[in-house]
Amino acid sequence: MSQERRREKIDLEDYQAKIAESNRHNVFSHCRVCHYEWVTSAAGESCPSCQSKNVQYILCWQFPDD
Ligand SMILES: [Zn+2]
Repeated sequence: MSQERRREKIDLEDYQAKIAESNRHNVFSHCRVCHYEWVTSAAGESCPSCQSKNVQYILCWQFPDD
């Protein structure tokens, strides 16, 4: 019984870690200068195409579910 409960707790922590991981690796980026678009792991990167810092960041979980 107590072992079952322990396993559920670990599963939940694993699940939360995966959510955090997917959020970290799903920042949709759009360069306002050259309009290059890419998915990155963190907001704040400069554009890999033109090195501009004028980049718009959208976390993927903010996209509406259609
Ligand atoms: Zn650019």
